[in-house]
Amino acid sequence: MSADESCAAPKGGGALPLAEARGRIVAAVAATTRRETVAVEAALGRALAGPVLAPIDLPPFDHAAMDGYALRHADLEATLAVSGTALAGAPFDGALAPGEAVRIFTGAALPAGADTVVMQEHVDVDEDGRVRVRRSPAKGANIRRRGEDQPAGRMALAAGTLLGAPQIGLLAALGLAEVAVCRRTRVAVLATGDELRGPGEPLAPGQIHESNSRMLCAALVAAGMEAIDCGRVADRTDALVDALSAAAAAADALITTGGVSAGDADLVTPLLRDVGGLALWKVAMKPGRPLAFGHVAGRPLFALPGNPVAAIVTFHQLVQPALERMAGFAARDPLSLPARLLTPLGKKTGRVEFQRGILGRAADGALTVRSAGGQGSAMLGSLAASDCYIVLEPERGPVEVGEAVDVQPYVGFHRACG
Ligand code: AMP
Ligand code: MG
Repeated sequence: MSADESCAAPKGGGALPLAEARGRIVAAVAATTRRETVAVEAALGRALAGPVLAPIDLPPFDHAAMDGYALRHADLEATLAVSGTALAGAPFDGALAPGEAVRIFTGAALPAGADTVVMQEHVDVDEDGRVRVRRSPAKGANIRRRGEDQPAGRMALAAGTLLGAPQIGLLAALGLAEVAVCRRTRVAVLATGDELRGPGEPLAPGQIHESNSRMLCAALVAAGMEAIDCGRVADRTDALVDALSAAAAAADALITTGGVSAGDADLVTPLLRDVGGLALWKVAMKPGRPLAFGHVAGRPLFALPGNPVAAIVTFHQLVQPALERMAGFAARDPLSLPARLLTPLGKKTGRVEFQRGILGRAADGALTVRSAGGQGSAMLGSLAASDCYIVLEPERGPVEVGEAVDVQPYVGFHRACG
């Protein structure tokens, strides 16, 4: 099959439906087999390389969930002598005899012989220090049982789990000091365009500050990847070939921005086609239609449009799912919620649109969303003001106030940092 035949975009400017494009791109990348062992405190944002089985019961012993008195349920009606104290880390030394209670504090091991803990607020203490229960709890009350959270041997975390603060807490509670994680996926970002100058550099007529590489490197780090900012590349095929081969030697995957439309200066798609690596071009989405995907020097290349909003939308919708697979994360659907629209939105049928919105809450408690402002694919101001995508299906036309729309909060794309 020639490169042109394998290119999925139908002739005549057709474009692939988003779900199909995403499925093909994700299927074209391989999950890493490289793993490393890291300290649990350094595991934030990493993908678990294999399942973690609980090495011990959690909690490791029966203990009090309240400050109070440990006793036998059969003795609830009696006046009880207090035979000792059990503190967290300092258990009562001995067994509880009938007619006795032990003063106990939260986290202290349940003394042998006791089967119930009574809250201190429900106990009267007489002048001789003996206790009488005023409000009787059920047998077994206020006790956390050994293994009730995680029994030893059970799978505590599945392979591919993203390690956030709760998972790190669980690993530590299980006594694990280290954990096997997948190696981070290294992603090189190259910005193409003769008009681009770095932030801090003066602008000559016709030039703009380059923003895509910094924005995408930030999005990569937020997605748990390692980002390599390769800077700017001129709109010349030889410069592009050199930059891509250098980047391919240093990274697992490549991202370019710009140069994927059909203009004279658009060199990325022709280059992919020439090296036989073009797998897919044009997706029926707005913004982001000209996205191309393929392989260069054995590395997946995500060729994103140059317009900044198109670059970040295609990154979130098509690149991040593929990179998550490469990085060993378990597959997941993007977080999507129904919301009530507060501002009318322009929309033509034919393509799925990702408009930028701002979430809120109506008086009746419903999630609401309004437009963040101008919806042009180069408009960074409204992008920066927004906190979600408003996802408008291909068959949808203009949308009126009060209609239900799906939103994707950006927090769903920010999985990890550092
Ligand atoms: P292109 O996809 O190369 O045709 O670029 C489309 C638009 O995005 C043009 O207005 C470019 O100047 C702009 N653009 C391309 N690359 C970047 C970049 N890295 N940062 C900011 N704007 C860019
Ligand atoms: Mg360009």
